[in-house]
Amino acid sequence: MSKHQYAMVMDLNKCIGCQTCTLACKKQWTDGDGMDYMYWNNVETHPGAGYPRDWHRIGGGFDAQRFLRPSSLPPLEDYGAALEYDYGQRLYGGSNKPVMPHRLPDYGPNWEEDVGGWDTNNPYYFYLPRICNHCTHPACLEACPRKAIYKRQEDGIVLIDQDRCRGYRYCIKACPYKKIYFNEVTGKSEKCIFCYPRLEKGRVNACAAQCPGRIRFVGLLDDPDSPVHKLVLKYKVALGLFPDKGTHPNVYYVPPFNPPKEGFAGRSLLEDPRLPLAYLKYLFGPKVVGVIEFLHAELVKVQSGGGSEVLQLLIGRDEGVRYRIVPRQVREAAPGEVGRRTSDAPAGPALTLMGTPGKAAPEVAGHAAAGASNCHGCALSAHCRA
Ligand code: SF4
Ligand code: SF4
Repeated sequence: MSKHQYAMVMDLNKCIGCQTCTLACKKQWTDGDGMDYMYWNNVETHPGAGYPRDWHRIGGGFDAQRFLRPSSLPPLEDYGAALEYDYGQRLYGGSNKPVMPHRLPDYGPNWEEDVGGWDTNNPYYFYLPRICNHCTHPACLEACPRKAIYKRQEDGIVLIDQDRCRGYRYCIKACPYKKIYFNEVTGKSEKCIFCYPRLEKGRVNACAAQCPGRIRFVGLLDDPDSPVHKLVLKYKVALGLFPDKGTHPNVYYVPPFNPPKEGFAGRSLLEDPRLPLAYLKYLFGPKVVGVIEFLHAELVKVQSGGGSEVLQLLIGRDEGVRYRIVPRQVREAAPGEVGRRTSDAPAGPALTLMGTPGKAAPEVAGHAAAGASNCHGCALSAHCRA
């Protein structure tokens, strides 16, 4: 258990499935060698098999006695291996055939986009964005025989020490969310780093910064003024995914509201929901019913001319409402540990991109203030200024 815990809340009622977050993360963190198939942030349609295929059905996490229950290792095809295209023949060999991949894929990230479920005239689906949950009890950390995975005391972010990792992949089998990826070029495992180099400079995570739906709220769970504290602990309207897996995830979801089925608009959301409650319980546990009841009551209150602090917060129009990033407060609250881990602490070693202590950390994965020598001038450069 860390002294402090960064957390993210995602309001699934606001996600439009645009994948901007996926691309923001891909561009910022996983455009290197061996990372083609990796999406540290992905957005999948539910009900659905997700990415990698069937991740939520194959196991991982802890059992009731707190023993690890590892799954099998998903094959690369279940993530969607990167495709090769014969550009050479088309561009330089005189061929006028259309460019085609060497093989036809049968799965990939977002393969089942907008397919969802169907129940007599009532199609239903919603989008589920996913990153590493930076769990309070990380199964990945527990499974690693090299102790290469660690959880930072100052903010609860889970990282992999690339110098210690030997690529055994026990972490991948142990993670019930399948949010660790093996890099075949480096022979190491890699994962979402919760944009810690950005947070340390007071910038919010790239996926949140770019989200046009404004669905993401970020802050410290133990900070009473943070939006995540209010949504998770005060109003209790955000729930972790698969709480029965025993890792205590720190990414939380406001469950999708259930519009009534077609032709039953007068009924309550819970009387005849379009999204089957059984599926929402499968994902978020039994508490999801109480959350929907509470949010529905708040909605009725507003529709009757009253006010609702929690719905106002969930609108999250301004960044100041959605994010509360306080790196200095964290440093001051835990000076010993933080002094060893933050890049501006003169006495301590800096971190590499993936979290290896003792080596110089690159400026936010090669991104820098616009105009600096290593600025790529990409769409994200505005967010690198600190
Ligand atoms: S989601 Fe998986 S990879 Fe991330 S901390 Fe939890 S167990 Fe580890
Ligand atoms: S950027 Fe926001 S709205 Fe778009 S898919 Fe990602 S989480 Fe959903």
